[in-house]
Order: sequence, then C-alpha cells, then structure tokens
Amino acid sequence: MCNNFNKKFLDEAAKALENQESESDFSNTDYMSEAVKSAIQGMNANEGGPFGCVIVKNGEIIGRGNNKVTSTNDPTAHAEITAIRDACKNLNSFQLEGCIIYTSCEPCPMCLGAIYWARPDKVYFGCSQKDAANIGFDDEFIYKEIELDYQNRSIPFEQSSRKEALVAFQKWQEKEDKIKY
Ligand SMILES: [Zn+2]
Repeated sequence: MCNNFNKKFLDEAAKALENQESESDFSNTDYMSEAVKSAIQGMNANEGGPFGCVIVKNGEIIGRGNNKVTSTNDPTAHAEITAIRDACKNLNSFQLEGCIIYTSCEPCPMCLGAIYWARPDKVYFGCSQKDAANIGFDDEFIYKEIELDYQNRSIPFEQSSRKEALVAFQKWQEKEDKIKY
C-alpha cells in the first residue's frame, strides 16, 4: 500500500516535471519564431506587410495574426490587432489577462493602444521601431502628433457639438445593466 502510494506520487511528480519541461522547451525564441513565420507567410501570400504576432496563454498559442491591411482594405489590420481579435474570440473574452504577446516588430501607436486596452501580462517584440522605419514603415510621426495642438496636427482635429455628444455619456452613467471594462 505504501509502495503503491509512493509509486503514484513518483509517477505524478515525473509527469509534472515532464509537463514543465515540455512547456519550457517552447521558449520565448520559439514563440517569436512563430510570429516571424506568420509575418513571412502573410507577406508571401500578399496579405499585407511583413509583420506577425502570436499570443500565448499557459504555454499555448491561443491567437495568431499577421498584417492584412492591403488584402482586406483595412488600415487597422495590423498583426497585433488581428492577433488580439483572434485570441479574444478564442478565449471568448475582451481581456487578455495571463497572456503574453509576441510580435515580430515593436508595436505602432495604434497597436500599443490596443495592447493596453486588451491588458496582456507582457509584450515581447522582435524588430525595433527604427528597424521598421528603415524599410519604410515609419510611425514616429504619430507619437509626435499626439503632443500637438489640435489645429497643428497634420490631420486637423476640432471639437464640435459637445453638449449633444455628452448625452451618450449621461445615458451610460445611468445605465444599470452595463458591462464595465
Ligand atoms: Zn500597429
């Protein structure tokens, strides 16, 4: 009886160790390779630019994406956005708690914002913003635009009908069955 217990305990310990090993076998480098693979596959299929992304939860890839701007006529279809949409759909959640994002390139300001809204635990990026600028994908100007006065932006911004727009906010505050996020 005692031996059986010991055997069971040892078997379970061995299994746990095996799982741990197989998880750690798949390292950050491997996940990043998957992101890069998505980038190259998407680019070769003429879906869009050379950007890929995978999202990992508990050692498993639960979301994948690559840039699909030109093939879907969607200027927001960056790799991180398409991967976040895929992961959230698979998780049936609007949050990426406990998830790690691996993106082949440092996120642009739009994707950076999307990542903050999705709330993953961590982000790993391959190429830098500068590497992207070197091949013609320069998003540095967007960061600079944020600080400019509305009228000085390259796309001018102007406030209009604030009072009317505030009605939606008032209704939200009063709404009793709202899903907060
Ligand atoms: Zn982006």
